[in-house]
Amino acid sequence: MERRLMIADRMAALGTLSGGVAHEINNPLMFISTNLAWLEEGLSTPAARQLPQLEEFKKAVSDARQGAERVRNIVRDLRTFSRVEEARLVPVDVHQGLEFSINVATPEIRTRARLVRELGAVPLVLGDETRLGQVFLNLLVNAAQAIPEGNPEAHAITVRTRVGAPGEVVVQVQDTGSGMPPEVLERIFDPFFTTKPVGVGTGLGLSICHGIITSLGGRISVESTPGRGTTFTVTLPATEVRPAPRPPTPAPIRSGRV
Ligand code: ADP
Ligand code: MG
Repeated sequence: MERRLMIADRMAALGTLSGGVAHEINNPLMFISTNLAWLEEGLSTPAARQLPQLEEFKKAVSDARQGAERVRNIVRDLRTFSRVEEARLVPVDVHQGLEFSINVATPEIRTRARLVRELGAVPLVLGDETRLGQVFLNLLVNAAQAIPEGNPEAHAITVRTRVGAPGEVVVQVQDTGSGMPPEVLERIFDPFFTTKPVGVGTGLGLSICHGIITSLGGRISVESTPGRGTTFTVTLPATEVRPAPRPPTPAPIRSGRV
């Protein structure tokens, strides 16, 4: 099967399953988390100091909590997945989704890179503001996580909007981070594929992005050079040829910092 179709197929199956599964997992997970918290509390009482294996017990409980945390993140992302299908399509300005996601990602970005806006006057797209915001947020957080903390002057994350082919709006998120080797690049849209440590990555971000963008009739592509950085390009069908009203905060062409 063609690779793109294979991904779409897997995504559809996962979307159908995920809502119900997420719900079923959430209840026992709450129960596990509450009990682990209670055990942790018990292990820090004076009486617990008598236990010969106190440290081992503490470690076991803390490992279990990390596991529960990981499951919690997966459930959260699965929920997002199952909502992809319910998107309400209206004409939206991509800049609104972008500004929303920039606001949310700012704490992650600030310590790592300058944020540069290169925003053009682009037509409205047929979409769902929340879903588009989710896509841009995923791309921005990934970009930030590809850059080491501590030297924000040395790195840039650039968000760019422009008119592509006639009737198409292009949104790019570019970073000067780690980049990806080919063997990573070819798997990034697969559900659950992650190179990040347990607790940081669920590997669902880009498959959700892919699902949302294709459900809006768009495309998402990537270019990456190890050691130099990565550019994600989202292409969305425009609803009309007329440009969207000027974005409220950034002027149509502007470079700026977060
Ligand atoms: P997660 O972020 O939870 O790992 P994603 O689906 O968002 O899952 O991304 C999958 C993988 O793709 C990441 O673990 C990382 O290896 C790679 N990746 C995504 N975006 C970038 C980027 N901007 N720079 C470098 N690697 C990236
Ligand atoms: Mg991610």
